[in-house]
Amino acid sequence: MAENPESQEFADLWERNLISAPEGGSCWDISDEYLPNSFDPSLFNLPTEQPQPSTSPPTSTVPIATDYPGEHGFKLQFPQSGTAKSVTCTYSPDLNKLFCQLAKTCPVQMVVDVAPPQGSVLRATAIYKKSEHVAEVVRRCPHHERTPDTDGLAPAAHLIRVEGNLRATYKEDDVTSRHSVVVPYEAPQLGAGFTTVLYNYMCNSSCMGGMNRRPILTIITLETQDGQMLGRRSFEVRVCACPGRDRKTEESNFRKDQETKTPSKTPSTTKRSIVKESSSSTSRPEGSKKAKMSVSSDEEIFSLQVRGRERFEMLKKINDSLELSDVVPPSDVDKYRQKLVSKNKKERDGQTPEPKRGKKLMVKDEKSDSD
Ligand SMILES: [Zn+2]
Repeated sequence: MAENPESQEFADLWERNLISAPEGGSCWDISDEYLPNSFDPSLFNLPTEQPQPSTSPPTSTVPIATDYPGEHGFKLQFPQSGTAKSVTCTYSPDLNKLFCQLAKTCPVQMVVDVAPPQGSVLRATAIYKKSEHVAEVVRRCPHHERTPDTDGLAPAAHLIRVEGNLRATYKEDDVTSRHSVVVPYEAPQLGAGFTTVLYNYMCNSSCMGGMNRRPILTIITLETQDGQMLGRRSFEVRVCACPGRDRKTEESNFRKDQETKTPSKTPSTTKRSIVKESSSSTSRPEGSKKAKMSVSSDEEIFSLQVRGRERFEMLKKINDSLELSDVVPPSDVDKYRQKLVSKNKKERDGQTPEPKRGKKLMVKDEKSDSD
């Protein structure tokens, strides 16, 4: 697996980790003179000391992300973290998607039915989910790559890191240039059904010049020492500021999608279809309005970013009306509507140049009713 240049790089990285870089200097400037005299590389059992395997890992230009449990029944589990605001890493089983914050600990539990051969490893690789981007190597954005946050092991350009494991090695594939991080497979502790590997994602999904809002998958492969693939699993990853919130939103959108796909779709009430109409005619607000359109028991709160005060006031008015209509009993709604209709008529007759915005909405409402 580990070719010589990589092992050398790993040794270099080790050295960097053992000493502190001179101030302002790049880590690569460090020469041997900084090393303590007592430094003995064999102390750490570097990969250079190990026999080199004869074959390299199977590499294809377009990596495969389909699940393959293999003979060992390889699968992944994630601790349940919920969708609280404070959560820094949470996995959605419905979406098979991990939501996490930048550089925060993401525990992934590795499960096998049958123990793999001695010396097996677990490799994590990131790929772009969409086929139009899949050929591109996932790497950190230029900004974060320059940030001096290296743990001494991980190359600065690598998105995925392993936390708290000094045996983690970072690879760049000779053919595809893809990055991966490899840790030795460890048998579960007695009584535990899995072993945990802690991953960090070192860029946000939104990072300009990096992932740039393109969704990624993490592929975890169980491999023999000489790179033969034994099992493969993958999951989607979103690195963001509010993992709990984003998971909630995406799961509820997912459920709505599922609902609309099912044939037993209930027809929406007149009122709801009007709301839809008026919002799409303004600025297509996604968040709060959408929530209102769904079942009334949906108490989820969405926030919406609106450009321009005028537009904001407009949408706020719509939302306020919806909030109001939630508390006004249906029997009273018609009374109010009648009042407004007659009032609008009077205003039009009274040569008011144009109705105020709030009323405009009601005019539309009225029209849609007659249509
Ligand atoms: Zn970044």
